Formats: sequence, C-alpha cells, structure tokens
Amino acid sequence: MKKIKRIAVFTSGGDAPGMNAAIRSSVRTATSNGLSVMGVRFGYQGMIDDDFIEMHHHSVSNILQRGGTILKSARSKEFRSAEGRKKAVENLKKHDIDAIVAIGGDGTFRGASELYEEYGIPVVGVPGTIDNDLYGTDETIGYDTALNTAMEAIDKIRDTADAHDRLFLVEVMGREAGFIALETGIATGAELILLPEAVKKLDYIRDTLKEVFKVQRRSSLVVVAEGDQTGGALNLAEKLKDDFGKYEMRVSVLGHLQRGGSPTSHDRVLASRLGSAAVEALLNGHTSVMAGVVSHKNTLTPMHKTWSEKKSINFELLELAKVIR
Ligand code: ATP
Repeated sequence: MKKIKRIAVFTSGGDAPGMNAAIRSSVRTATSNGLSVMGVRFGYQGMIDDDFIEMHHHSVSNILQRGGTILKSARSKEFRSAEGRKKAVENLKKHDIDAIVAIGGDGTFRGASELYEEYGIPVVGVPGTIDNDLYGTDETIGYDTALNTAMEAIDKIRDTADAHDRLFLVEVMGREAGFIALETGIATGAELILLPEAVKKLDYIRDTLKEVFKVQRRSSLVVVAEGDQTGGALNLAEKLKDDFGKYEMRVSVLGHLQRGGSPTSHDRVLASRLGSAAVEALLNGHTSVMAGVVSHKNTLTPMHKTWSEKKSINFELLELAKVIR
C-alpha cells in the first residue's frame, strides 16, 4: 500500500454534536504524525464540487465545545452514481489525497467502502450519528448529547404537569431504532416506552395507561420513538383520544432540537478517541473499517458489518422500565 502522506477528513449525513471534536482529533493526530490534512466541506457533495480546505493544528482550535460541524454536512444524490464518484475521485487525486477519514452514519460508510472498492483509496469511518444505531460501537458520537437534550426537554414538559389527569405523549428521534426513546424514557420515569424493536398492540397501550391512571397519579408520560409502529406521538394521540378523552392530552414532537447543542463531556471524549483511532488505523494499514469503542476498548469493525449487522437495544432496560414505573 502507498505510504500515506496526506489525508482528507469530512462529515456526512445527519449532523451530530461531537463531530467537531472528532474532526479536531483526526486533524491533530494526523499533523502530529507528520501528515498533511485537507477538510472537505459538505461531505460527498463537496468532494464532487471541489470544496476542499487545508487544515492545520490551529484550524481546529476552539471547536471542541461547538455543536454541528465546521466542515458542514450534506446528503449527496450525485455521489450514489458511478459518475459522481468518478468526479469526487478526480478531485481527491488533484489534491494528492492518499486516504480518507469519513465521519457519519452507515450511508456514509457505504459510500466510503465504494471509494476503496472502485479506486483503492483507503478509508476509515468514525460513527457520528445521534441515533446510536450502528453495529461495532457501544455508542455513536452525538447520542449522549441527544439523550440529555431530550431528557431536559421532557423534564421541562413535566414541570408543568402538576395538574391532575394529564397524558403526555413525547416523540423522540429514532426512525429505525429505539435507543434514544429507551434511555430517555428511563431517565424521565416514563410510564410507557414505545420502540420499533418491541412492538406493542394498541390494546396493551390502552390497558397499561388505564392501569397507571388507576393506581396513581397526576400525570402520565409516554415516550415514543418516531419509528414506532404506532406512527409516532401524533398518530398515537389520535388513536387514544376516544378512551382517554377525559384526560388532557399533550403531544410534543421534539424533532431537530435533539441534534443541536454543545456536546456532553461523554461525546467529546468519545469523539476525541475515535477521531484519533481512525487516523492511527490508516497509518497501520487498515481500510474499510469503522473505529468504535466496545466495552471501553477501542475496536475496528469491517465497514460492511455496520449496515449488515443490527445492534440490539438493551431489552433488560425495557423490563426495568416496567418494574419501576
Ligand atoms: P445518518 O445516520 O445520520 O442519516 P448517514 O451517513 O447514514 O447518516 P445517509 O444520508 O444515509 O446518512 O448517507 C450519507 C451520504 O452517503 C449520502 O447522501 C450519499 O451521498 C452517500 N451514500 C449513502 N449510501 C450510499 C451508497 N450505497 N453508495 C454510495 N454512496 C452512498
């Protein structure tokens, strides 16, 4: 394999808090190993449009605490075509790029794998997505911040819940996976947590809520993942309105606010570890792998497993939620 002298770093797909910390760590690990670094703005689309910038140690000063990504992120339809990728590779060659650090989700890694398979450019991935739905790492960058943001929002919603007979339905992000809903539900003491991985019939939902209102209480909280089979909080409210008409029903869809904000210390540390591990992996001759942390240890997982294998939620937590509600 050609000796790596110059790498490109970019962020792609949905942005996630902590991506900046990952960029900073990749850039600084690269420069301290004598490599030069180019940042690509707007992900694969920027690669196609030749939107490259030189990056040095100081280019990443004062970004560790900032949400979003200084390199911007994008979804690129053009890159999905062989022609689009050809244009991207022409630009990579023009800038003498020997290898790539790709920060994003499984779509980003699919694209990166193709760059290696079609053009032999070594690629290593860094998991940056709030949903936590990537196999090969216990947690993804941005997940912990999203959890805390959702938890704080729900705490505030519940603060106003002193009145009797209220039913709060709160929808959190997670189209394919219920990681955010599960942990946010536990952290906010939800009476019911609804996830795509543990489908509940409408009768079960109704009976549980009736039971909960019987034995208690002023208000009840249901946390729903956006990808849950009920169709999310708004649909669920519609389905429950006949049975729970006497309760005041409040529906909140937290939406994009969960992507924002300054990353938690946990996400900053994780991103710092993984951004650096990705560069080290390239220097050690690896390609088409994703850097992750599993049981507190740094790991490398073949990229294809990040989309072919499914990471499971912790079903014990779901059981726990029932016991302590
Ligand atoms: P998130 O999970 O946060 O949405 P992601 O990386 O999965 O992040 P996607 O939009 O799925 O987000 O992928 C990012 C970009 O990667 C796409 O816009 C596209 O340019 C590229 N990409 C995705 N899948 C492929 C593929 N099969 N082949 C080539 N490129 C792809």
